[in-house]
Parts: sequence; C-alpha cells; structure tokens
Amino acid sequence: MTLSPQFLDDLKHRFTLSDVIGRQVKLVRRGREATGLCPFHSEKSPSFTVNDQKGFYHCFGCGAHGSVIDFVMNTQGTTFPETVEILAGEVGVDVPKPSRQQVEREKQRASAGEVMEAVTSWYQAQLVGQGGASALSYITDRGLTKATLEKFQLGFAPASRTALKEAMQARGIHEDQLIETGMLIKPETGGASYDRFRDRLMFPITDRQGRVIAFG
Ligand code: ZN
Repeated sequence: MTLSPQFLDDLKHRFTLSDVIGRQVKLVRRGREATGLCPFHSEKSPSFTVNDQKGFYHCFGCGAHGSVIDFVMNTQGTTFPETVEILAGEVGVDVPKPSRQQVEREKQRASAGEVMEAVTSWYQAQLVGQGGASALSYITDRGLTKATLEKFQLGFAPASRTALKEAMQARGIHEDQLIETGMLIKPETGGASYDRFRDRLMFPITDRQGRVIAFG
C-alpha cells in the first residue's frame, strides 16, 4: 500500500494524540505534555510522555516513540494498512485507492516473486542432481543435513552460462524477467545475456513473508 505523506499527515492531525492514548493509559497533563505509565514496558513511575502539539509520544524508559499510527499498531497488533483503515474509519475519511499504475506495479512484483520461486526450485533440483554432486558432498561434509538443505531451500548454480536461462525459458519465463530479477546479466556492450550465478552454492534470502527476494 502506497499512501502519500500528505494523506498520512492529514490523518494524524485529525486526532488529538492524548485522547487516543488516554483510552488506554491514564495520563496526567503537565504543561504542554501529558505523562503516564508506559504501556510498552513495566514501570512504577511515569516516564511516558505525550506531546499533542508535535503529535508523538516518547518513553524515556524504553525509548518507545511514535505517532498515533504507531501507537495503535503497537497496542492493537494491527498491520500498517489495517491501522490506517481503522483510524480513517474513526474520523470518516476515505483511504485513497491505489492508482492503476500502482496496481500494475504490484502485479509485476507478484510475477517477479513467481520467477524467484521457479529459480529457487530449479537450483534446489540442481543441487541433488548430477551436476551438484561435488557441491552436495561439500556441504554434507560440513555437517548440513538433508532437512537443513530443504528448510533453507539451498541450491546449486551449475557451471554454465546458459543452463538457468534455458531452463527458465522452457518454463515460459521471459528473458526480460530474468534480467529484471538479476538472475541474468545483459552485457551493456550488447551480446547475449548469461546466467549471473555459476558454479556456486545458492542461499535464498527471503522477505518477512518467506518469499525469495535474492540469493547469497
Ligand atoms: Zn517505555
């Protein structure tokens, strides 16, 4: 979800932070700030302050710091998009829908995910196939079990400039997509693209959703 900084600023300004926090934390006003017992760590004397003018809270005990959005996320356990929806709903503001361009970009990203998935499983197959024999014996000698290999989706890139490219093209994945995801190198001087990774062990790097985004 891509929301403009203006929209988020405007949304935050529709709330008086101490009102929102005051629903859960007993606050005592002291001049410009309100203080109370921090909801993010256990304490006996208040080190949690709320500044309505600046629109943020700060805890001198544990360092918790943020806006009304952070407060709701961290106390309700909601995601960022959910929190924005909740807060916007409270004040009757519509959350802008993504533009067609943004939707297109999201779709492309999904297909990049599919490319990485196909590449990962192909590398995995190479590791346990004929070409991966020496790589496989190297890592099993290092004490990695089959379960570990599978858990971390370890793979092997064969010593070929075109093996991955050909295998992926046979699956209907276009050369451009492989270049965009960094799996193929396209020489700037022209000439045919070729496999970036050759004759090496492949360790997939995943994002928080467990999707492969790169290799180490
Ligand atoms: Zn704290």
